[in-house]
Amino acid sequence: MTIDLTVLGSAGSHTGEGRLCSGYLVESGGTRLLLDAGNGATANLQRFVALRDLDAVVVSHRHVDHCIDLIGCYYNLRFDPAFDPPLPLYAPDGVHATLTALLSGDGPMAFDDVYAHTEVAHGDRLTIGPLQLSFARSRHPVPTVSTRIEAAGATLVYSGDSAGGPDLVEIARGADLFLCEATWAGDPDAYPRDIHVTGAQAGAIAQQAGVGRLVLTHIAGGTDRDAVLAEARDAFDGPVELAEDLARYRVG
Ligand SMILES: [Zn+2]
Ligand SMILES: [Zn+2]
Repeated sequence: MTIDLTVLGSAGSHTGEGRLCSGYLVESGGTRLLLDAGNGATANLQRFVALRDLDAVVVSHRHVDHCIDLIGCYYNLRFDPAFDPPLPLYAPDGVHATLTALLSGDGPMAFDDVYAHTEVAHGDRLTIGPLQLSFARSRHPVPTVSTRIEAAGATLVYSGDSAGGPDLVEIARGADLFLCEATWAGDPDAYPRDIHVTGAQAGAIAQQAGVGRLVLTHIAGGTDRDAVLAEARDAFDGPVELAEDLARYRVG
C-alpha cells in the first residue's frame, strides 16, 4: 500500500507570494487525513477533497501558521447539510484552547459541534483507516508533535516545527519520505535557539535517521531557498528537494 502526500502549503511562519502556510493532505486506501491547517492551506485542500470527506485532522501545534484554517473549516462544515459530524481532530495541548477561544463570541455555535478533539502527546499512537500514526515531542516554544505515518510498509514522517534533537531523529528513523521543516539557512547561531532548524541541520537529521528521501518545507519568506537546498544536500546522502505548494509525492 502507498501513501500519497500533497503539499497544500509550504510557507514558513507566514504566507508568501502565492505560497500558503503549512498543510498536507495524506491519502491511503481511500482514507484522507489533513496534516496541519495553516493560513490558506485549506483553499488548496478543496482542489482535491471536500472538507466533509476528510476522515481526520492532525495539527502539530497551536501556532496559527499550522492551525488557523480550522476556524474557516468550522464555518464550512457547520453549515454543510451533507457533513456528518464530528470530524476527529488530534492535536497537542494548546490547540483546542486556542481555536475554541476564537469562536467563544459566536453564540450557540460551538467548536465541539464540528470537531471531536483528542489531545496527543509524545509516545501516543492511533489508527485512522489503514494509517498507523505515532507522535514524538518536538523541540519548539509551545507543545508540538512530530508525526510518523505508516501504511503497510510505507512510512512518511513530518517534523512539524522543530529545532531537531534526538526525538526527531528517532521518530524519523528509516522513513521513506521525511518531510522536514528547514526554516533557515546558514549559521544556526544567528537565530533564536530551540525554535527551528536550518537546511544543514535538517539534512543532518535525515542522515542520522537514515531516511530514503528528504523534502524540505516551512522555509521562511526571507530565507534563501537555494541555500537551504544546497546545505541540506551537503549534509544528507540521499535525494533532497524543496516542497512546493501543490506538489504531490507517492510514498512506498
Ligand atoms: Zn510554523
Ligand atoms: Zn511554530
